[in-house]
Amino acid sequence: MAEKTLAIIGAGISGLSAGCYGRMNGYRTVILEMHGLPGGLCTAWTRNGYTFDGCIHWLTSSAPGDSLYGVWEELGAVQGRPVVDHDVFWRVVGADGRTFSLYADPDRLLQHMRELSPQDAAPAAELCRWIRKFRRFSMAMDKPRELMSGPDVLKLVVRMGGKLKDLRILSSTSMGEFSKRFKDPLLAAGMRLAVGESTPLIGLVMTLAPMSRRAAGFPVGGSLAFAQAIERRYKGLGGEIRYGAKVVQILESDGNAVGVRLADGSEVRADYVVSAADLRHTLTSLLDGRRQDETHRALLETGDLYPSCVQVSFGVRRAFHELDECLGEAFELETPLRLGGEDVEWMTVRSYALDPSLAPSGCSVVTSILDAKWEYWSALRADRAAYTAEKERVAAACAEAIDRRYPGFRDAIEATDVATPVTFERYTGSWKGTFMTWRLTPEFEKRYGYVRKAVPGLDNLYVASMWTLPPGGIPGAAQAGRQVIQLLCARDQKRFVATKPRL
Ligand SMILES: Cc1cc2nc3c(=O)[nH]c(=O)nc-3n(C[C@H](O)[C@H](O)[C@H](O)COP(=O)(O)OP(=O)(O)OC[C@H]3O[C@@H](n4cnc5c(N)ncnc54)[C@H](O)[C@@H]3O)c2cc1C
Repeated sequence: MAEKTLAIIGAGISGLSAGCYGRMNGYRTVILEMHGLPGGLCTAWTRNGYTFDGCIHWLTSSAPGDSLYGVWEELGAVQGRPVVDHDVFWRVVGADGRTFSLYADPDRLLQHMRELSPQDAAPAAELCRWIRKFRRFSMAMDKPRELMSGPDVLKLVVRMGGKLKDLRILSSTSMGEFSKRFKDPLLAAGMRLAVGESTPLIGLVMTLAPMSRRAAGFPVGGSLAFAQAIERRYKGLGGEIRYGAKVVQILESDGNAVGVRLADGSEVRADYVVSAADLRHTLTSLLDGRRQDETHRALLETGDLYPSCVQVSFGVRRAFHELDECLGEAFELETPLRLGGEDVEWMTVRSYALDPSLAPSGCSVVTSILDAKWEYWSALRADRAAYTAEKERVAAACAEAIDRRYPGFRDAIEATDVATPVTFERYTGSWKGTFMTWRLTPEFEKRYGYVRKAVPGLDNLYVASMWTLPPGGIPGAAQAGRQVIQLLCARDQKRFVATKPRL
């Protein structure tokens, strides 16, 4: 029987994943990517010999045997790729020079927090208890929700091992609220800054828990190399990929998606269309905006979208090993700055010195990430001179602040780059330049249900991006692509097959 054809929009991690699993399951696939590179948000760019990584800070399930590691192997993303694990997640340094290290190991963390602030022993112990409790816990699902039967749901509940109540507690407390339980301002600041003030406590617990088992490291080579490995796997499976291929319309006939139209006017016909592009873009630009199920509509209208960021990247002519033990550091500024329309009281800094592939010998890449509002940068970009000037001002202020903490830093700078929410949006089409999707609040499931991968009233179209598995991230994107192919296999009455590449 002839292979059914699949047109996939977007070569981000979800599109590449859909392509790989599509090929493993006998579909003839073509990925259409508007950019010139694979990876989407999972990317990097080079300036003056330096590779500025724009995505992975930590990869969930980066260690063999961990819940999603098999998926990374199936996608050919991790074989032969060393991983850097950090002992400390974030290091927070107050203006008075005191340092709070958020150790990944809960025993070490508890001891450190007690030493720093004996009066905060109770909330510190509570945090560490949660990390220990969730140390082996995984929310990864082997099947899309659409295919789960009653017994599957029951199995999931059993696997949750009575943690549903815990999850509810952890999801109903924001880091801002939790931080108020600490009397020491440095510990309180650490709690606020670690994963964002409005992120629920579950966000920190589920970050530190895999780090404590050394299963959330940085893959050497960085984000683009990671995406390129998946692209190689896809091509090795016989998949086709076209770059510079911007899709402008999903073609329909009698209530079926039948292909796509590209910006150059050409058409690609297919039995199925999978959009691995931004969900909003898919529903409102590639379709007419009228066909959205209730969850899609409600989320687009009222979902609590993650903010975007400004990433300032520096290439420095020295090995910057001062941050090797931690994923990053936030240090308090003596005088707050107004940058990119935001008040900045804490400067963040991260060094990639442990990955020599990203910089010339003896040199390092150092980045600073600041919270940012798309609205501010988007309005500013209407005036290109003002936009450029603000980018330069932000870069200079970051360099000066880092130089004050690490003298000699500024003089060693050889390359600088500033990516704003508008940059992320321009290159990937991601809505408001966001890099995750919606925050998972305690009411999320009750209020919105789960995000379906089908679009009502239009058969043969599936949506597969990170937007279908909030809160997003590389694991969500990879699983979204996999799940769409599971749905197609179920529909075509085929057994879903997942293979690992032969080495
Ligand atoms: C600064 C930053 C840090 C991050 N840190 C982490 C981290 O530490 N860990 C983690 O797990 N995740 C992290 N993420 C998030 C992660 O990058 C994303 O969740 C994930 O890459 C999303 O993948 P995706 O395939 O769903 O979407 P995208 O990457 O947005 O891919 C969509 C693709 O579709 C293409 N496209 C869009 N519209 C069209 C069209 N009309 N025609 C053709 N092509 C189109 C785009 O060009 C893009 O390539 C980070 C992201 C950023 C930006």
